[in-house]
Amino acid sequence: MLLQGCYSVDYSSQFFKSVLDSMSEEVSVIDQFGNFLYVNHAWRCFSQGNDGASSWADANYLTACERASANGDDLAAVAAQGIRSVINDQQDEFYLEYPCHSSAEQRWFMMRVTAFAHGGQHCFVITHKNITERKLAEEAVLELSRIDGLTDIANRRCFDEFLESEYRRCARLSMPLSLAIIDLDHFKLLNDTYGHQAGDECLSKIAKLLKGFAKRPCDLCARYGGEEFVIVLGNTSLIQAEAIMTRMLEAIRALSIPNAHSPVEDFLTVSVGLSTIYPSKDSNEHQLIEAADTQLYVAKNGGRNQLASAQYLIMD
Ligand code: GH3
Ligand code: MG
Ligand code: MG
Repeated sequence: MLLQGCYSVDYSSQFFKSVLDSMSEEVSVIDQFGNFLYVNHAWRCFSQGNDGASSWADANYLTACERASANGDDLAAVAAQGIRSVINDQQDEFYLEYPCHSSAEQRWFMMRVTAFAHGGQHCFVITHKNITERKLAEEAVLELSRIDGLTDIANRRCFDEFLESEYRRCARLSMPLSLAIIDLDHFKLLNDTYGHQAGDECLSKIAKLLKGFAKRPCDLCARYGGEEFVIVLGNTSLIQAEAIMTRMLEAIRALSIPNAHSPVEDFLTVSVGLSTIYPSKDSNEHQLIEAADTQLYVAKNGGRNQLASAQYLIMD
């Protein structure tokens, strides 16, 4: 397209080559067999920096991906499959975001593959773009956000905010507020016996189950830290909360998650510390946490796999 008012430009191959070489994105063109037909300056610099390959002309991109895949790089396999799907006309475009960390820094790239025809030949443009800045920003947001990365339930930060606001709401409306701290029994033994990965899966399973016991808008289930969870039950008396926590203990036992070396049972059990408060301006939510924590120790010292609970009494 010629732009009006601009001085005349010679749209020669040299012009477009200069445009492509000025781009920070790495651009290449391959044929339907994966052979390189063209690479721009950024692509040449990147491949030289990465593996010292000086000649791109005799390389084959699909072969390179498949070699990396055979060496255990799963994303290289996904990339090769995606490129082939465009080559075989199964989709117009393929897009992939992938990590490519070096020992010195964390890096992420995105790859995009599109097709065009030139003089009867099918050509495929592959572009790589460094998206590290965006990925790091996304990670920071995730970190600051309110969801626990492993279990997908609310995190400690979210819990702190929720408890504070629920405390004020229950104080205003003269309602009871209950808090349970749930600690997995002998979880270190579970990790030692079945591995950390199995431990992680167990935490996710428990979180999913606990979430089912905090369904109302005034309830919250959160990961408090490590292998400890909390359940906040707004407008819930001690007797009501005890009934809910007793059902929860049963549900966890029924999961029968193996913990063969636990001295309590040969499956995973939990201890629960529960306290209920009638919030007022003379107390605060931190006292409720301390009270629930005290009950947790009572449950642990009582032999674990049990609930200990008490109403929090405000001293005059
Ligand atoms: P107790 O019955 O006294 O609570 O014993 P415990 O073994 O559960 O408690 P301890 O505090 O000795 O150990 C907690 C264990 O939880 C150790 C730690 O490695 C494990 N843990 C904490 N966070 C995670 C996690 O995110 N994933 C996994 N797999 N393990 C975790
Ligand atoms: Mg603990
Ligand atoms: Mg524990």
